Amino acid sequence: MAPRKLAAGNWKMNGTLASLAQIDQLLADAVPGCDVLICPPATLIHAVAAKGIATGGQDCHANASGAHTGDIAAAQLKDAGASHVILGHSERRTDHAETDAQIAAKSVAAHEAGLIAVICVGETETQRDSGATLDVISAQLAGSVPDCATAANTVIAYEPVWAIGTGRTPTDAQIAEVHALMRERLSERFADGADFSLLYGGSVKPGNAAEIFAIAHVNGALVGGASLKAADFAPIVAAL
Ligand code: PEP
Repeated sequence: MAPRKLAAGNWKMNGTLASLAQIDQLLADAVPGCDVLICPPATLIHAVAAKGIATGGQDCHANASGAHTGDIAAAQLKDAGASHVILGHSERRTDHAETDAQIAAKSVAAHEAGLIAVICVGETETQRDSGATLDVISAQLAGSVPDCATAANTVIAYEPVWAIGTGRTPTDAQIAEVHALMRERLSERFADGADFSLLYGGSVKPGNAAEIFAIAHVNGALVGGASLKAADFAPIVAAL
């Protein structure tokens, strides 16, 4: 099985019911040669899923239920219509001090609930400048991806922290280097490591998507800002 191509939109803490019009427009505009996923805020998961587009959460708790005010369980995401969940996004690693071990535990919970985990890894600018990128990515993969991961239940997104929302992107060679490393590490550890979908994320726009998608082992994108408007996201989907 070759890695599936995936264009995933992360709406973060943006969007209200009025934003559903963007889904309608996306469904009308995009002619996907790939899987298209929208990860809206939890308040919109049910409504987005009802449009018939693949829908994901942006986080889940590692526990199945219980006294965790404000958190959401993987099974609740599934119940609302989600098929995927983003885990370990750098904003969660930073804002909520999430560790690799916590992300791995959340991934297990996601898998047990029947969700596909989109596990994010990525170096900070300081780490890149100090030459630590490949070590950081290797460590995050080792720590965040659980042993029960398979190509069918897990997608990996490489998102350099310094490229998220900044308009800056790594060079093609830098993206290629990290994606080749991720493929190698996954293949060393998992029998189907060659089949995991590997996404690039960080300032993907209509103008740079095709070039990024042409890089070896880039099987799609995790898109933040440019996924909020169908007029921006549809051409990215079309480029994959
Ligand atoms: C993200 O937050 O996952 C992301 C990639 O954001 P942006 O596309 O806005 O850089």
